[in-house]
Amino acid sequence: MKTVGYAAHAEKAELTPYHFERRDLRSNDVAIEITHCGVCHSDLHTVNGDWGPQPYPLVPGHEIVGIVTAVGQDVSTYQVGDRVAVGCMVDSCQECDHCHHGEEQYCRNGMTPTYGSPDRHTGETTQGGYSKHIVVREEFVLRIPAKLDIARTAPILCAGITTYSPLRTWDVQPGTRVGVIGLGGLGHMAVKLAVAMGADVTAISRSNSKEAQAKALGAKSLLASSDSDAMAKAASSFDLIIDTIPAKHDVNIYTPLLDLDGSLVIVGQVGPLAEPMTTPLIFGRRRIAGSLIGGIAETQELLEFCAEHDVYPECEMIRMDQINDAFKQLESGDLAHRFVIDMASLSAK
Ligand code: NAP
Ligand code: ZN
Repeated sequence: MKTVGYAAHAEKAELTPYHFERRDLRSNDVAIEITHCGVCHSDLHTVNGDWGPQPYPLVPGHEIVGIVTAVGQDVSTYQVGDRVAVGCMVDSCQECDHCHHGEEQYCRNGMTPTYGSPDRHTGETTQGGYSKHIVVREEFVLRIPAKLDIARTAPILCAGITTYSPLRTWDVQPGTRVGVIGLGGLGHMAVKLAVAMGADVTAISRSNSKEAQAKALGAKSLLASSDSDAMAKAASSFDLIIDTIPAKHDVNIYTPLLDLDGSLVIVGQVGPLAEPMTTPLIFGRRRIAGSLIGGIAETQELLEFCAEHDVYPECEMIRMDQINDAFKQLESGDLAHRFVIDMASLSAK
């Protein structure tokens, strides 16, 4: 199937229109016409080569929603016309213990990311959601609950699940004291989801400038990491902190904020950190951990959770041809919401 998207043709290059083919349907494949795709900081890291060399041309995008246009002969779960979604992975071995337990993101044989990765069968490079169409095996397609507005659903597929998964793993309950570092795409979803779980949520931001946004999202307050008095007063006051900072940073200013047995869960920076001090870990039985997106069943659970609790990402709709400006704004770190590409703006020609 011929399709069109926006691709980077070299490291740090601007994205430009790119015509390419989606594979013919295998028996277990679902073909999707994409209506919207969220813009994740991971898309920017990948295009910029922050995570090593990439196979260009590269079409980013892993917060995908759309409508089923065709299904392979053995597909039983989806029909033409269904509202569906695809997140950060499109395949895994389906045979290892992690896959069997619904944690395909930790597949022992390596899951297949939605873009920039070899397809398990053909070795062709996977291409993401900044495009009109995608073909994905049935097991990696999610159903959008009838109650959810599809135009505001896309960021749930990465920003949502990446923060929901650790909130569930660390068993957030009503009254759990949760801190969220970095009030961007992931951070604003972490605040909303933790609030919906009944937690007592504080946004931890570089300055006070996002205070009104933090409160509008449901946070009890905003703690500015640049305010050393406020940081000292907040010592030992959190059970769980989700760290979404997209760059190398110093966790030593955050670990003392944890109470006994508290955990700082890093979901942002993939790569080196400034050297962590063991003192706050030893003198407080505090932990530093990490977490990668979430499994398929957990992502479906999250879509139902968002429908039930009326939780939506804050979406700023953009046209496909505004993507390069959107990347520049994302780089600034000033946003407290998600850009979402309206794929109707991408001409098929
Ligand atoms: P984003 O929208 O740019 O938000 C990041 C936020 O972090 C900014 O809004 C800013 O918040 C803060 N920040 C930015 N630069 C900073 C710096 N140099 N030092 C301290 N704080 C800084 O990005 P995102 O889409 O949420 O993604 C965040 C990170 O998560 C990215 O690195 C992305 O690759 C990663 N990610 C990981 C997973 C996973 O599975 N673990 C999944 C998706 C994304 P304040 O203004 O409030 O400080
Ligand atoms: Zn992402």
